Amino acid sequence: MAQRLLRHFRYGRTFAFLRRLTSSRSKSINAVRKLYQEFGLENRPCVLCGGKAFTLICEGDRYGFDLDKQICDQCGLVQTSPAVKKDFLNVFYRDHYRRLYTKRNDVDHASLVREQRQKGERFLAYLEKTAVAPKLNDLAVIEMGCSSGGILEKFKPHCRSVQGCDLDVEAIRYGKEQLKLDLEVAEFPTQLPEGPRLFILSHVLEHTHDPLASLKQIKSLMAAEDYLFIEVPGINLVAEGAYKHDLKSYFHLAHVCDFSEGTLRALAARAGYEVLSCNETVTALLRPSSETELPWRRSEKDTTENILRIEATRKRR
Ligand SMILES: [Zn+2]
Repeated sequence: MAQRLLRHFRYGRTFAFLRRLTSSRSKSINAVRKLYQEFGLENRPCVLCGGKAFTLICEGDRYGFDLDKQICDQCGLVQTSPAVKKDFLNVFYRDHYRRLYTKRNDVDHASLVREQRQKGERFLAYLEKTAVAPKLNDLAVIEMGCSSGGILEKFKPHCRSVQGCDLDVEAIRYGKEQLKLDLEVAEFPTQLPEGPRLFILSHVLEHTHDPLASLKQIKSLMAAEDYLFIEVPGINLVAEGAYKHDLKSYFHLAHVCDFSEGTLRALAARAGYEVLSCNETVTALLRPSSETELPWRRSEKDTTENILRIEATRKRR
């Protein structure tokens, strides 16, 4: 068996087993685990660079799911490998995701909208400091994976128009009825407004089965004058205190990839985007280039040593 980078007991299979056994979410966890075992896991090359060599980091996530997190030896992207299948993810989001998170069957849309509004304010503050700031008024905003639309509601007074799509039927209904927003049940927008546009992808890319393919697909919807705003939970923020400094809390069954500023920049270049702005949050503003792929390089920060550095901040607490 491969030597695990994070050697502590808590990152191994036995600890994951005990976590599943003792969790107050045991029933949900076991149902989800049975589901990904039935679909089977997928051995595949790195989703960023196509590399085939990985270093094992950890053998369980926050819930005790027995999935491996590995770092690609070539590009430094942390990812679940072997990966859960795309068909599993579809069923998981439809039937299990919310329940696992919230421990309840009904969804509190009002509280979700409050969180989304806070994100919307944060995103606007971020964009204020980018090249998009003077043009925001003229942009049509399109959010993919908008849930009930709280982010769009915050953008509405600052932009030409807002619209959104999501596969969550209940969330879309809530946003249309309560927030009076232009929303549709779809993975990608079925209609696009004319003129310059700002696409938003907030906490979606880390969940997608093939993030490179997703970014390329979005690029195919975009004109040269359009922008793409992305946010994903950054792995390096764990060293700053996010997830209580605990990589195991950060590692999540639903996160196919665990990005840093460096790996998101590399992925964007691979998909043919120019990066206008990006930080370790990870929050980024991209622009489509005329090339199908731009040159990229591995960030010096995306290493096994960096993973150990993050882990050391937990031990020092
Ligand atoms: Zn790679």
